[in-house]
Amino acid sequence: MNYRHAFHAGNHADVLKHLVLLALLDALKRKQSPFFVLDTHAGRGRYQLTAEESAKTGEARDGIGKLAVQTGLPQGIRRYLDAVAAFNPDGRFEVYPGSPLLVAQALREHDYLAACELQPEEAAALKALFAHAGNVAVHARDGYGTIKALLPPKHGATRLARGLVLIDPPYEAQDAEYPRVIAALREGLERWPNATYAVWYPVKQRRSLHSFLREILKLPAKSVLDIELLVRADDSPLRLNGSGMLLLNPPWQFDADIAPVLPVLRKLLGEQGASTRLEWLKVAA
Ligand code: SAM
Repeated sequence: MNYRHAFHAGNHADVLKHLVLLALLDALKRKQSPFFVLDTHAGRGRYQLTAEESAKTGEARDGIGKLAVQTGLPQGIRRYLDAVAAFNPDGRFEVYPGSPLLVAQALREHDYLAACELQPEEAAALKALFAHAGNVAVHARDGYGTIKALLPPKHGATRLARGLVLIDPPYEAQDAEYPRVIAALREGLERWPNATYAVWYPVKQRRSLHSFLREILKLPAKSVLDIELLVRADDSPLRLNGSGMLLLNPPWQFDADIAPVLPVLRKLLGEQGASTRLEWLKVAA
């Protein structure tokens, strides 16, 4: 499958994912010491929202486009809109930055990103995008495998103690992806226990998520925070009704950073039956 045409850049799921990602990066930047980010499923990094890809433009119009026209938004949403606007300097909304580009934009000189992408065409685009970026490494390979290969992270002889792993797989066969995510998290927590792990997941029918969440809670994370935005009721298996970000070992009191944005996202992006969730599934002892 050519993923480029299936990825709905800027839709409600991207809004949630990228807004939470930026808030996590901001929390990491509160300390001076360097951090490392591993993006296991990075995509091509930059998406063109042009007329010939009108399906994507429509998704973005219903997602980020609905936010961009508002005033008086909470800081977390403005932070996200400003990050996207930086890639659209002439004010026309034509480029949507994917996760590795948003991370690279947020890095300081002494922080590092490793971005992994399996699909050759996407990986080539990602390599070209970061050809001159000194602190970004692109790996054209299976992202799950890099958890073993790259963690715990080192720069030269220095171990990087702090950081973030973003796991954002395509969930083409949703039930088949869950065990791979769980195995990756188990391996990651063993190798780099203090990092934050952020897992994006789609919500179609809630039923299919129960056993996944049960398995998440068996992992040796100190804390688990679940953040969800449903733009309609979660009763149709055919549509992306919403999505969530599961955060293992999030920064302390991270829920307070996100709480003000969720009701606003529900109101501006939701239809009948929309809802949000911000819940500690496991609290640090
Ligand atoms: N994280 C990106 C963002 O937020 O902009 C979007 C990623 S997209 C949801 C998932 C990507 O994972 C696709 O580009 C797909 O080609 C890639 N992919 C699929 N299986 C993979 C694997 N095993 N390892 C690395 N990348 C993979």
